[in-house]
Amino acid sequence: MNKIQMVDLQGQYKKIQPQIDKALTDVISSAAFINGPEVNNFQEDLEEYLNVKHVIPCANGTDALQIAMMGLGLNQGDEVITVDFTFAATVEVIALLKLTPVLIDVDINTFNMNIEALKKAITPKTKAIVPVHLFGQCANMEAILEVAAEHNLFVIEDTAQAIGADYTFKDGTVKKAGTIGDVGTTSFFPSKNLGCYGDGGAIFTNDDDLAYIIRGVVNHGMYKRYYHDVVGVNSRLDSMQAAILRIKLPLLDVYCEARKNAADYYNNAFLECDKIITPVTSEFTSHVFHQYTLRLKDVDRNALHQHLLDNNIPNAIYYPVPLHSQKAYADTRYNEADFNATNELIQTVISLPMHTELEKEQQDFIIKTILNFVK
Ligand SMILES: *Cc1c(COP(=O)(O)O)cnc(C)c1O
Repeated sequence: MNKIQMVDLQGQYKKIQPQIDKALTDVISSAAFINGPEVNNFQEDLEEYLNVKHVIPCANGTDALQIAMMGLGLNQGDEVITVDFTFAATVEVIALLKLTPVLIDVDINTFNMNIEALKKAITPKTKAIVPVHLFGQCANMEAILEVAAEHNLFVIEDTAQAIGADYTFKDGTVKKAGTIGDVGTTSFFPSKNLGCYGDGGAIFTNDDDLAYIIRGVVNHGMYKRYYHDVVGVNSRLDSMQAAILRIKLPLLDVYCEARKNAADYYNNAFLECDKIITPVTSEFTSHVFHQYTLRLKDVDRNALHQHLLDNNIPNAIYYPVPLHSQKAYADTRYNEADFNATNELIQTVISLPMHTELEKEQQDFIIKTILNFVK
């Protein structure tokens, strides 16, 4: 059996090595390292795949969130609601821009934004909602859009973990994750579902005016060379990363399918075990399994984590600390009773190896080791 990895980027590269190597050599030969034709080509490919009017590439997924918020013209003191159970990038950029983060609880079953908590958190100062499509499935966008319309709020979708997922509206309309709200953002960090070989990110929108503003923000606030109309940033996807992403984008659906199959295999194996709650997928979304995350009942989670490591099975706790308890984001406004789901999840979740190259033999070993431990 091959060594089990949390993510197998080498194995994935080997299957596309000739195309990748050629694309990189071509970029180097062309010397168009920044803003080369590959960046524009990838932008167009991704616009077509997502069926969205504008893709604006940028340097990483954290920048993408920051730039989206800058583009929307949010001002100091505006409240931005996001979830307590996620990677810190989301709340970090809200704080960096001197906006006021308002963290809310998630739904215990789907790990995504709790709609009741959202409604409760709205105040006259609320300006935007940032749902995070955590672990690969969409938050309840139809409900979020309803709340946003009622209170005139922007919706920014953090799609770093769910690129490629489909969202189905009640009327049957299907949209790609990240293209549903006012603006969506993603990350091409190597281990993400569509990963490059360094840093990368993108912003999506169907709004022509917003796209125009954002294209200036990513480029030092310039709309005409050396005329700086707004305070911007320098955030670019480089040509080598774009060339890699152009090769990997046509494989994204295949990659998502491989993850889904691996998830089905785990789900089936844990079906009978009442101490293990397998991932719950909401009816309105497909799941692209950026992570495969179990909830444990009456199991010492930290002991299982260590036991798996002792058996050379990598695994991870996403996430061990709720954002409202992080030193950087703690605030006396928060009330522990409002975070029941997050406070439980941080004690009971465990994420298993999940990637496109996972072998049945490896999964069998992981499953057997877990079931022997929890029984
Ligand atoms: C990875 C991630 C980001 C940040 O992306 P980077 O490219 O690492 O900056 C933001 N939000 C979520 C939910 C993520 O998982």
